[in-house]
Amino acid sequence: MKSTSPSVEAPQPEAQVVTKVKPEASLAQAPKAAGQVVESTTTTKPPVVEKTVGPVGIEVIGADRQKKVFEFVVIEGENYPVPDPWKGRKIGEKPNMSALRQIPVAYTLNQSKLYLHEKALEAFVEMAQSAQEDDVHLQVHSGFRSKNYQQKIFSKLMAGGRTWEDLVRYVAPPGYSEHMLGFSVDLYPSNWQFASTKAYDWLKEHGESFGFSETYPQFGQEGYPWEAWHWRFSPSSKAVVKHSPAKDEIIEK
Ligand SMILES: [Zn+2]
Repeated sequence: MKSTSPSVEAPQPEAQVVTKVKPEASLAQAPKAAGQVVESTTTTKPPVVEKTVGPVGIEVIGADRQKKVFEFVVIEGENYPVPDPWKGRKIGEKPNMSALRQIPVAYTLNQSKLYLHEKALEAFVEMAQSAQEDDVHLQVHSGFRSKNYQQKIFSKLMAGGRTWEDLVRYVAPPGYSEHMLGFSVDLYPSNWQFASTKAYDWLKEHGESFGFSETYPQFGQEGYPWEAWHWRFSPSSKAVVKHSPAKDEIIEK
């Protein structure tokens, strides 16, 4: 697939003649926490600056000096390029570890110890109780996952013979997964079968009123594979739905 990153299409004019390392040059277009930006007129690989997630590099190619942005993550000391649709979408925020709370085991698969941000947890429990009243049992398979944990998943699967290219088609690279912020849950079964469960139908109808939405919907605009089981809590959407009455309600009162 050809890259359609905005950084490729709209290079800074002044940045095109830069030949030395200049970290600030393209930050306006690069994702917030994409790491160091390296510019070069050659096609050499950028240096590794972080242990876990590599920098965004910018390559100047050929006579037209067209820029190409590449990002990579480091797994077991090796650099792996971040492909679309993850490219340019590294999670910029840092997780607030002190806000993580354990999900009541009544709502986790095999009563496992899983964690969510307290705000997301509060909304989730409210939602799960409401679902229960409709005879729908929401079971969390995965909640908060640190970047390191995501990296371990990759190390393990790749040691078992899976290729990077194969994995990143389905799994967010370390540093790119919403799970590292603690606002997202994977519900059980966390695979394509979830789309045909009662739980999925219920969430489609009611999730939004608790602030939950699908991050990777079917036919999504951003080209992610569909993940019916992955739901994200956004505080603002909950506030809009729960606390502001519709206009016609106001008129009637
Ligand atoms: Zn997920």
